[in-house]
This record gives sequence, structure tokens and C-alpha cells, in this order.
Amino acid sequence: MAEEEAAAGRHHVLLLPGPMQGNVNSMMKLAQLLALHHFHITFLTTDFIHRRLHRFADIHSLSQTYPNLEFKSISDGLPDHHPRSNNNAFADLYSFFNSHGKPLLTEILLSKTAAKPKVTCLIGDGFLGGLTADVADEVGIPVIHFRAISVSSFWALFCAPNLFESNELPIRGEEDMDRIITALPGMENIIRCRDLPSFYRGTESNQVDPLKSTVFDCHQTLRARGVILNTFEDLDGPLLSQMRLKFLRVFAVGPLHAHLNSRRVSDAKTTPSTASFWEADRSCLTWLDSQPLQSVLYVSFGSITTVTRERLMEFWYGLVNSKKRFLWVIRPDMVAGEDNGDRVPAELEEGTKERGFIVGWAPQEEVLTHKAIGGFLTHSGWNSTLESLVAGVPMICWPCFADQQINSRFVSEVWKIGLDMKDLCDRHVVEKMVNDVMVHRREEFLKSAQAMATLAHKSVSPGGSSYSSLQDLVEYIKSVGRKNN
Ligand code: UDP
Repeated sequence: MAEEEAAAGRHHVLLLPGPMQGNVNSMMKLAQLLALHHFHITFLTTDFIHRRLHRFADIHSLSQTYPNLEFKSISDGLPDHHPRSNNNAFADLYSFFNSHGKPLLTEILLSKTAAKPKVTCLIGDGFLGGLTADVADEVGIPVIHFRAISVSSFWALFCAPNLFESNELPIRGEEDMDRIITALPGMENIIRCRDLPSFYRGTESNQVDPLKSTVFDCHQTLRARGVILNTFEDLDGPLLSQMRLKFLRVFAVGPLHAHLNSRRVSDAKTTPSTASFWEADRSCLTWLDSQPLQSVLYVSFGSITTVTRERLMEFWYGLVNSKKRFLWVIRPDMVAGEDNGDRVPAELEEGTKERGFIVGWAPQEEVLTHKAIGGFLTHSGWNSTLESLVAGVPMICWPCFADQQINSRFVSEVWKIGLDMKDLCDRHVVEKMVNDVMVHRREEFLKSAQAMATLAHKSVSPGGSSYSSLQDLVEYIKSVGRKNN
């Protein structure tokens, strides 16, 4: 064992997540899993995120738990007061990294101390796929890409050129939305135009905005030595088989949070951790403690999605009119547009006081595994989808952008663990779907969600597919490190 540790200590992996909450969350779990294998790990974020992690994620205690895990940061080029929470900001971040990131990253990749060897393997977020592939080539370090989005969306984006060539795309306006896409290998006849990743919407105008071009750029991952995916065989088997025809190595090691939790149980030294950019309001857990079993709908739209005030009101009426208990995350920056000081109608205040609880940010992983939770109204971000799936909680999906449209289709039509509210959300639909998931079709959804949760846990247990795939990744990192040493 000591020999194994010493051997692993000759390898140094640098992880570079995209500068978004979901990406940092999942890559932080991967960083810890690799740290448990005794590699030197550097987790490189932006200065802005680094400060947030220091305040809210307790990375200080993580560094104590994993002395071989170091946090470093670089500038993202935006002023400190910038909220960094809308599409324009992501486009700005993307272009900053592409124009200024190279020297910053190169310097870190080449640095070496007495305690730590030079980086022997770079794991770069696919969001920065071109940059990490270029730098790795120049420095002569192997790069593996990490894809924080779902496999279905990555694959749908990867297949974009074929879809345009075979005239399945572009989407020709609103009336074309229900047309079935037939030529997506591994998901033939499942996906309608409206279920494609949101970046496909408006493609007929040929106005490819900078953010769109980053996601369509997923062919950069062909330059990597492999791709790491936050999924597992029983969930995405057919798509993983397709990916293996194109990519050198496919490591399906998810669900990462469940994977890390399962290793923690067998390793008492480690402590639970989150990578939150905001302070979680833990009072909601106390409130949940006093609610009946599986009686509460958890409502959260992730870290980026914004809603108009009108939309917020439709959700609010739908929730209150459903007469079900709910715990709702309304981030301080979630409601877009002017605050006209409009008062919340008295009937909503009353209904919320009776059956609801609202927080600005929740400890979501803990909330979803709380026994009082019976359903999740989600924006279908990939992390949220996996967290719900692992907890065996049925979903109502209200997708907004990126991979969310295709994730919600898989939830409702492939895995059958919830309902899809895509493109049709008003107070009546919200009320009906809440009652369907929490009452009328509860048994059906609970049964399939719990069956899927069992498969997820199996995949990260010894002998499971993700467990073995992580082992393969570890061996691969060691093998490329030996060549570099
Ligand atoms: N999250 C959280 N508390 C909240 C809302 C979200 O901890 O109140 C976490 C959630 O557990 C997930 C991440 O934020 O890990 C959101 O990532 P996801 O991919 O679901 O959506 P995104 O924010 O990228 O749209």
C-alpha cells in the first residue's frame, strides 16, 4: 500500500473546470476521488470562484482532509463586482480564456516544486476544449476532457454536422418543433426538435453567437486522449457505445457525487463537502424535519437560470393552488428585470406560510435525500438531474437552456422517472403536474425512480461499471505519467 501511494505520488493531475457552479461541483468530486488515489492534485479555478469557495465551501478543511489536493486560481478578466451569471458573461469568460488563458495555464503546467512534480496529466473541462487541447499539445502533456453536461446533449451537439448534412436541421420555426429527429445514433426517434439542446433553436438564422460556437466546438474533444463523463452504463449505455466508436477512451465514472460518497463511507478520514458559490440556508433542513414523509416538493432552477416576474407568479400560483407542501429556492439574482416593488398577492403569502418554505440557496444534495422530499421541480441541469436520480426522487422538468431540454426528454420518455413541462408552463400546468407526481401517479414514478437509484448506487460500488471505469482512469493517468516522468 505504501509503495502504491509513493508510486501515485509521482503523478500530478491538474483539473481545470469551466467557471460555472455545476461544472465546479462535479469536477471537485472528481478531484477528491483522484486525491483518494494519492495523486498530487491541483484544482485550478478563477480568482472569483476561488474566493467564493473559500467563503462558502470550506476548501480549507478539504485541503486538510486531502493534503495532496491544492487549490490555485487565475484571473478571468472580469471586474470583481461583475455578477458573472448570464449568457453574455459566459461568452466574455470564454473569449477571455481563449485570448489570455494560454500563458497563464502554461506557466502553471510547467511549474514544479520540491514537494510536487510537474503536471503529468491535464483534465480540462470541455467548455475550454480548444484551449486545453492547444496548451497540452504545446507543453507536451496528455489532456483528457471532462464533460459536465449530459452524454445525450454532448452527443447531440457532436452530431450537429451530420444533422445539418442530412437536412434534419436547422429547426424551421415554431411549427417544426414536434418533428422527430431520426438520425441521431443511439437515440433514433426519441428526440423532437424541441428536445434538442437549446443551442439548436434559432439555427436557421445562421447567427451563431459566441456561446453557441463554444458548445458546437465539441469536436475539440477528439484531440484529447479520452473523455470523462458524469454518467453510468445502466443510464446511458446506448449513447456510451456510440461514443466509444469515436473517442479513444470513454470513462463513464458517474454519478460523481454518489461515487465520492460511496468511497467516503469506506474511508473514515474524509469529510462531506460542497463546492457552493453561495451560503446554503440550512434552516430548510430543520423545516423539512417537521414535515411528513415524502410530502414536500423541492423546487430549484439551479445556479444560473433566471425567470421573469410573470413566470415566477405562474409557478407560485401553481404551487400554492396544488395544495402541496413545497421548499423553493429563489436565488437573489433569479428574477430578471425590474423590481417594481409589486407586492406578492395575499393568497400566495398565505398559502406559502401554510405549506411552503423559501430560501436563497439550499444544501441541495442533503435536501434531495431528506425523507420529507417526495418530488423535485427542476430546471433539469445535469447535476440536479443526477442528484435527484441518485436520491430516487421523481422529477417535474422545466428546462430552460443548454442540455436541459434533452435531459428532460430523457427523464420523461426514456427513464420514465418524471414529467416534462417543456415549453408549456402556466399555473394550471404546474398545479396539474405537481398533483400528478405527488399524488395521482406517485407510485408509478416512485417505483421507477427508486429502481434507477438502485442501479446508480450499484454502478459506483465495487464491481460496478463506474467503479471499474474510475479504476481504468487511474491506471491510465499512471501510465501516461510514467512516460512523462
Ligand atoms: N445547488 C445547490 N443549492 C441550490 C441550488 C443548486 O447546492 O439551492 C447545486 C446543485 O446541487 C447542483 C448545482 O448547484 O449541483 C447546479 O448545477 P446544475 O447542473 O443542476 O445546474 P446549473 O446551475 O448548471 O444550471
